[in-house]
Amino acid sequence: MKNLAKNFLLVFLIFLVIASLFSFSLSLPQVQVTLDITSMVDKINAGKVKSLKVINDKIFVTLANDSQAQVQKEPAESLSELLNNYAVDKEKLKQIKIEVEQDSSLDFWLAALLPFLIPFLLIAGFIYFMMRQVQGANSRALMFGQSRAREVTPQDRQNKVTFKDVAGVKEAKAELVEVVDFLKNPKKFINLGARIPKGVLLVGPPGTGKTLLARAVAGEANVQFFNISGSEFVEMFVGVGASRVRDLFRKAKRSAPCIVFIDELDAVGRQRGAGLGGSNDEREQTLNQILVEMDGFDVNTNVIVMAATNRPDILDIALLRPGRFDRRIILDAPNIEDREGILKVHARKKPLAPDVNLRRIAERTPGFTGADLNNLLNEAAILAARRDKNKVEMAEILESIEKVILGPERKSHILGEREKKITAYHEAGHALVAHKLLHTDPVQKVSIVSRGQVAGYTLKMPIEDKYFQTKSEFIDELAVLLAGYTSEKEIFGDISTGAANDLKEVTRLARRLIMEYGMSDVLGPRTFGKREELIFLGREITEQRDYSEKVAEQIDKEIAKLVDNAVKTAKAVIKEYFSKLEEIANLLLQKETLEREEFEAIFKSSPAPVS
Ligand code: ADP
Ligand code: MG
Ligand code: ZN
Repeated sequence: MKNLAKNFLLVFLIFLVIASLFSFSLSLPQVQVTLDITSMVDKINAGKVKSLKVINDKIFVTLANDSQAQVQKEPAESLSELLNNYAVDKEKLKQIKIEVEQDSSLDFWLAALLPFLIPFLLIAGFIYFMMRQVQGANSRALMFGQSRAREVTPQDRQNKVTFKDVAGVKEAKAELVEVVDFLKNPKKFINLGARIPKGVLLVGPPGTGKTLLARAVAGEANVQFFNISGSEFVEMFVGVGASRVRDLFRKAKRSAPCIVFIDELDAVGRQRGAGLGGSNDEREQTLNQILVEMDGFDVNTNVIVMAATNRPDILDIALLRPGRFDRRIILDAPNIEDREGILKVHARKKPLAPDVNLRRIAERTPGFTGADLNNLLNEAAILAARRDKNKVEMAEILESIEKVILGPERKSHILGEREKKITAYHEAGHALVAHKLLHTDPVQKVSIVSRGQVAGYTLKMPIEDKYFQTKSEFIDELAVLLAGYTSEKEIFGDISTGAANDLKEVTRLARRLIMEYGMSDVLGPRTFGKREELIFLGREITEQRDYSEKVAEQIDKEIAKLVDNAVKTAKAVIKEYFSKLEEIANLLLQKETLEREEFEAIFKSSPAPVS
């Protein structure tokens, strides 16, 4: 049918060409002078006309002096009728040569054919478009089973990432160098009978550079890189996931050596048999197909499957057994050296002012991941651009740190006089207790400028990276958290909703101390409750009780005791250093934000006279 439409168009085109050729060959004589009918009749009667030639509605008149003129006649009227009607002298007419010629030009043919052609063309065109639509939908439907993998070819210089672009993560890089080596030089390994890992699983919290590392491996090895996200395997239609996996691996084998990278593997790789409903069935089939494919290629196939996840705990164990994702590479949040390195990598494309000290930024960003740091420098660059600077200065970067942690400042969110006072005393309480207790991090900044969701904030930062925390630190932390609440209560004899977040955090922390960390003297070193994820709901967490009612009561008591003690500690500190509390709060009301130096100066100087 499609061919028919095409043929029809072709025929029509040929017809047009032929018709226009004809019309050119028969082009009308070019005559400038026009006459009206009466003057033509007069001229005939006067014997001044040699010949008449009729073409369509035009009469071409050749006069006695051989000059030419042209007369327009009515379309319906023939020449003889016309001459009769005007009573032309018959005698004179006999001496005139009269020719009638039918014009076979385009006009004529079109006039004859168009009434048929137009509806026919319309219908044909309509059918043609319908066919195309259907065809498009068809081929799109066929595409469903194909993998949606994005490919990065080694020739693609622009998107190329190498190990140089990945800072820190030394162990991970060392492991991956092996993979690169294998892709470049498989013979070396095979000759020794070594079995090269088929599957490499990158495990780490979001933003630690898993995706980046996988791309760097492809870049280093100079091979094709197929990138697909786990969730893309599973879409609405049952059976599609498995066929996508098949298609992906078929493509991969064809372009070996190459890397297949499945991002967010947990989307398909969750433990099987735990779900309900059809979509989970679909997921299982997809997962099974991945397992089959990974078993399918033999030692000599140069396809390495890499995958990334931040939830290794929920992966199906079949994925992790030898021969599948048996290499696991753990990526942690970067330490201070790594943070400096990452900052250096991302500072390459940004003009930095000479005052920028990346080491100091690294010091002030514990817990930041690579993605956070990237975001930080980007925010700083945006800020600098908005201030019409041509270099990013330290000030912008420091400001952006807080923006990344707490959300943007909300200067327009102006607190009323009384709210401002409450916030000032609340934050002063946090800051004072944090400063005075032994096992706390130094206060970096206190502010009563709203940011994101909070009215004010006290920013504490560890001096160095910490990998674990002790019980005394937790106990002090509880007191600091409760200091805002205590301060409000002491000063105003009332409490505000501003403390709600603190209280939530206190409860959570105290519970974990007892139930997860075994830090209770009474209940001893064990954990309580099994946490489990309801897999089919994704995020929901259920807690299974593995303890008796009686223990539950004890747990509640222990939590209450922790909180009670924390309030007592906070109260004691606030009572003892009440003048300092006032000083901090007053200074906050004046300046809104205190940096570390200003804050610490309060404790060095003798108490300022209270005005
Ligand atoms: P994920 O672990 O969530 O896959 P990504 O690999 O997508 O994280 O990292 C996000 C971004 O963070 C990267 O594009 C990169 O800019 C930055 N990044 C993360 N880790 C590093 C690192 N080690 N070195 C340099 N940049 C990093
Ligand atoms: Mg990722
Ligand atoms: Zn608070």
